[in-house]
Amino acid sequence: MNISINNKNVWAGPGETILQVANREGIKIPTLCYLKEFSPTGSCRICVVENEQNGQLVPSCAFPIYEGMQVQTNSPKVRRSRKTIIELLIANHPQDCLVCVRNGNCTLQDLAAEYGVREHRYRGERRKGKLDLASPSIERDPEKCILCGRCVRMCHEIQNVGAIDFMNRGFNSQVAPALDRSLNTVACVNCGQCIVVCPVGALREKSSQKPIWEAINDPEKIVVAQIAPAVRVALGEEFGMEPGTIVTGKIVAALRRLGIEVVFDTNFGADLTIIEEASELLRRIQLGGELPMITSCSPGWVKYLEHFYPDLIGHLSSCKSPHEMEGALVKSYYAKKIGVDPNRLFVVSIMPCTAKKFEAQRPELGSDQPDVDAVVTTRELARMLRTAGVDFSRLPDEPFDDPMGESTGAGTIFGVAGGVMEAAIRTARYYLTGHDMDFIEFTPIRGLDGVKAAEVNLNGNILRVAAINGLKNMERFLEDIREKKSAFHFIEVMACPGGCINGGGQPLPYDPEKVRKRAEAIYHLDRTMPKRASHHNEAIQKLYEEFIGEPGGKTAHQILHTHYIEREAF
Ligand code: SF4
Ligand code: SF4
Ligand code: SF4
Repeated sequence: MNISINNKNVWAGPGETILQVANREGIKIPTLCYLKEFSPTGSCRICVVENEQNGQLVPSCAFPIYEGMQVQTNSPKVRRSRKTIIELLIANHPQDCLVCVRNGNCTLQDLAAEYGVREHRYRGERRKGKLDLASPSIERDPEKCILCGRCVRMCHEIQNVGAIDFMNRGFNSQVAPALDRSLNTVACVNCGQCIVVCPVGALREKSSQKPIWEAINDPEKIVVAQIAPAVRVALGEEFGMEPGTIVTGKIVAALRRLGIEVVFDTNFGADLTIIEEASELLRRIQLGGELPMITSCSPGWVKYLEHFYPDLIGHLSSCKSPHEMEGALVKSYYAKKIGVDPNRLFVVSIMPCTAKKFEAQRPELGSDQPDVDAVVTTRELARMLRTAGVDFSRLPDEPFDDPMGESTGAGTIFGVAGGVMEAAIRTARYYLTGHDMDFIEFTPIRGLDGVKAAEVNLNGNILRVAAINGLKNMERFLEDIREKKSAFHFIEVMACPGGCINGGGQPLPYDPEKVRKRAEAIYHLDRTMPKRASHHNEAIQKLYEEFIGEPGGKTAHQILHTHYIEREAF
């Protein structure tokens, strides 16, 4: 179809919206409720444009194009309408910018500046709502909510959880869990994907900075930090660097500048997870255990299964997630090595994930003390560095500490969806054949698609595997398992779409292009590592010789494995 936008003739494909065509032509139209991944609702109406043929304002995200249509995206009528929408939103919004976590990174703030809102034209009663601070991962501030509905669609359409929804009508409308309960008391899986899509500060992670500062300032404590794979390809964005800039060495240096004594690499824990998980998989196959075995390193996914498919808990790998394994080793192996009371060690995990905050508090993880004492997200680490006046971009690269600083490319690719599976295949193949794969990269399960499946020939045995990201995508696989129809041996599940590179704790605002660049950086790191399979990690070989013994053995089960619990599906 031929249409005209701002007096310029352009073409449009069938089913395209005005917004899609305008974006393709480089014409910016503001949005609030719209996200490419969701069905458009046209509810916020900030994206209105003027149909020149009848003078009507129509929402560009939802209005279907017709042949000969003539549109203005920047007419006086359009500008007036958008400005009024912004003013009405502000009239019903707390004026909290100075103390808001999204100050400087907020779509409403940006729109107010772009449309020249310089006064409060409308004043009146504001909607009330109670702060929900009880969840260990997510905080809700309903008064800042602009009712765009993005979080609701994320939680329902992509994550298949439905922990939040619209409540009440008109002025009293709000987004909340059923019966206005706390997120902590419903089946929220703490994935933080609602935060990722929220354009304002109505949703945020629970801050863990205070106990970390206290531990750093406590002379009795030895603070040990560890860094997840996906953090090193994203933190730079917080300091103006290109998405996908690899800042591993700078993060190590930055943590030392904060006063953290020891800095380990969670990639070491990821390599260790692979040794234990590949061994567990082979044991299940050889001894007739429950198949498919499903990965357990995504705590949002684990909680989802516990709530909605508790009868399938036996399919979860018993392996703890990499940072939990590493935390448990800090308080056992490392404490013994340096001769200190484990109670003096305070383990901080720097994670791309909000669900890890919940995971660290699970009583099933840890013994008389937790494996991990505090979890901060990539965003929170950036805030801590700013508070401490650390000039991140000018820091030198510094190496990790021993003995948990060595890692392989396999540990690195845990950061992207499909990576755990690929890493496990590299090692399972070695265990079965005694030699590495001819092509170490297993590309059929790469990429950001939500469902990937493949077959691997392991010494003549065909292993059927799948890698799933985004919880909705797992539904049909779970139903198949329930009905005993699944043909798979091993399934990787990542709660967040794209995996940890798009975790709920990563830099905002959400942008699929940034996620793609982070994934590329992870694979680049893998290609440049001298060792690319977990079984070649010499520090891990030494760990087994000195401390653990056999993979899947008694000590391994005491320290590196866990169990799961049934939860209500409310
Ligand atoms: S959500 Fe945005 S507009 Fe609202 S207080 Fe926070 S920064 Fe300001
Ligand atoms: S954290 Fe995840 S499960 Fe919980 S409300 Fe947000 S999107 Fe839904
Ligand atoms: S909490 Fe955020 S994402 Fe959800 S409806 Fe409100 S403003 Fe939109």
